[in-house]
Amino acid sequence: MILEKNANGIAALPMNDSIATIEKLDIAQLPAGRLSRWWLTLTDSAFGEPIRIPILALRSTRPGPVLGVTAALHGNEVNGIRVIQKLFQQVSAADVRGVLIGVPVVNVPAFHAQQRFFTDDVDLNRIMPGKADGNASEVYASRLIERFYCNLNYLIDLHTASFGRTNSYYVRADMTDPEAATLARLQNAPIIVSGSGEAGTLRSQLHERGVVGITVELCDPHIFQRQVIDQSLQGLHNTMVHLGMIPGRIIAPPRPPIECRTSYWMHTDRGGLLEVLPSLGDVLAPHQTVARLYNIFGDLITEYRSPERGIVVGKSTNPVNQTGGRILHLGVY
Ligand SMILES: [Zn+2]
Repeated sequence: MILEKNANGIAALPMNDSIATIEKLDIAQLPAGRLSRWWLTLTDSAFGEPIRIPILALRSTRPGPVLGVTAALHGNEVNGIRVIQKLFQQVSAADVRGVLIGVPVVNVPAFHAQQRFFTDDVDLNRIMPGKADGNASEVYASRLIERFYCNLNYLIDLHTASFGRTNSYYVRADMTDPEAATLARLQNAPIIVSGSGEAGTLRSQLHERGVVGITVELCDPHIFQRQVIDQSLQGLHNTMVHLGMIPGRIIAPPRPPIECRTSYWMHTDRGGLLEVLPSLGDVLAPHQTVARLYNIFGDLITEYRSPERGIVVGKSTNPVNQTGGRILHLGVY
């Protein structure tokens, strides 16, 4: 499907059925010099209907890198959807070099169910690269990589916190990789957490295939948050300028990011109602009280303290806490 925009940049909106369905993304087959929209089939539902991811593509007539921006690999993480929609409204086909690809929703079944995990309760971002002849989530993951992600040179994968938690605007990247480190810093996020990605994550799998990828965390699930959406768009603008895909200049962040060499979640050791005290971005002193746990009658059971100096990257917002519940995500720098 090729879209023409009018003078106001408003595209004639096609019905979903008028958008062509493809079985595999082939960059060379995309129309050059235009915005195009596609449905890419991954698997089938029990009714035999295709489960398809939506794709926005801007392929220039001029050579350049292939940059992918994807969202909702966890189905309830919607801020990134709006980022991708706005990105494609802001970037003009005439200005772009290379190829810009956006997938507003990667985990389609979970998006419809408004949940984080795939329909078999599996986290797609822990089972990459999936398995071509595996179970439902494994096949879906495998086809995501073989039919879509393998086309990319660069990936910005947009996420948020899970239900019951909140995140800062922060980036996860392998800061020992100079290209990934540069992409991370271009996002203008206040915090960067270094790491190569756990086994089974999309980022670690694509790294093995030569794709430079970073994960960008955009605050909270189940909600559009205009401020972080705009911040992420600024980061993508910077990324495209840096890669030579659009003209312009890189906008520097108001202050340099705090780059954490490692990070971890603090957990409770018993159940109760949890009150987490610091705010996102607070810098904690060693042994600072960070949370209080109450029993159901309101008595204070215990307090939790920061084991070391660090910055609050994310925190629990849901007070209903079982033993082992998360308290806060501490970034150490
Ligand atoms: Zn996520």
